[in-house]
Amino acid sequence: MRFRKDASDLDERLEIPELLIRALDSLESESLLVLPGEVILHKSEGLVNFGVLKDGRIASEDLIALIRGVRRSNEARRGSIEIARGPIGQGKRELKVSVTPLTEDGLILVLVSDESEARRIDAVRRDFVANVSHELKTPIGALGLLSEAILGAKDQPEEVVRFATKMQSEAKRLADLVQEIIDLSRLQSSDPLQRAFPVEIEDVIREAINQAQVSSESRRISVETGVIQEATVIGDRDQLIAAVHNLVENAVNYSPENTKVSVTSQLKDGLIEIKVADQGIGIPESELGRIFERFYRVDPARSRATGGTGLGLSIVKHVALNHGGDVKVWSQEGVGSTFSILLPVAPEVEYEDPIIEEN
Ligand code: ADP
Repeated sequence: MRFRKDASDLDERLEIPELLIRALDSLESESLLVLPGEVILHKSEGLVNFGVLKDGRIASEDLIALIRGVRRSNEARRGSIEIARGPIGQGKRELKVSVTPLTEDGLILVLVSDESEARRIDAVRRDFVANVSHELKTPIGALGLLSEAILGAKDQPEEVVRFATKMQSEAKRLADLVQEIIDLSRLQSSDPLQRAFPVEIEDVIREAINQAQVSSESRRISVETGVIQEATVIGDRDQLIAAVHNLVENAVNYSPENTKVSVTSQLKDGLIEIKVADQGIGIPESELGRIFERFYRVDPARSRATGGTGLGLSIVKHVALNHGGDVKVWSQEGVGSTFSILLPVAPEVEYEDPIIEEN
């Protein structure tokens, strides 16, 4: 096979033997055939999901550099490249690439696979186990002490009732903690963009507010929706609801009674920003950088009193990053806080059909 160096008048598919296309399409990795000048001769269908191409060109500078290096040396190379999950946020996907020179005229075969998942899950698990064992020790220790106290007070019914009630609340705390740990670990071990569907933001906001109704009513806080601009994003509906719900619950928990929480959404530059604003206690500026960390609480005693686990915001951040988005916070002590989730809006063409059909 010979390929012209100037690909401008190249009749693309005709130049590639059908057999080669079939072989490439049968591979587990996605594939790309590249001519000099980084002209794309063939790309496998699944490559679109990797964000390697933009407007029919290779979007990754690192990949271009790798291809040029291989063309110069005429030797195959392997490497990894990082691709942003969306236009904002630090959510990245690590892709493994193998670049092989096929012909002397500079035709290059690029194979791309996403192995970051497996590695990421491994790292997350290791990290998680350490944090979790530490967090579980507190309520378990408390349960142990309380049961000893009950034994010691067995002849004083009132004390028994008091300690038993405390035991109940510690047990509930333990159960909530375990549930959130399960939720977070599920979130970290799944990629919503691999099983993504169009999700209406208005519906997400409505459902998130509904789920927070019991706590907002019990604290006499009115959760209101302001301007809601409609948008569709591609992702996991349940995860998006859980994220917005966590923000609403926090807004309610960290606000005095009889205040307001408002939820709005606004479209800007291809992004939808969901904002949850409260008139609550606020967060000191020095703590703002840490609140999205797992198990981080500004005031552990207050968080304990409201049943907080320190995992809520970390779940919110994970959901946003996994959807190619980001989170933002503004807060002033004694004035209130505004948390935002920014998500890329689905392109028009993808509005109607899910990207991946359910089996
Ligand atoms: P928690 O389960 O403790 O609420 P989160 O991860 O949801 O954990 O939040 C982390 C910390 O950030 C909280 O402990 C609290 O100190 C602070 N925080 C979160 N949301 C708000 C808010 N709306 N107003 C004031 N402080 C907040």
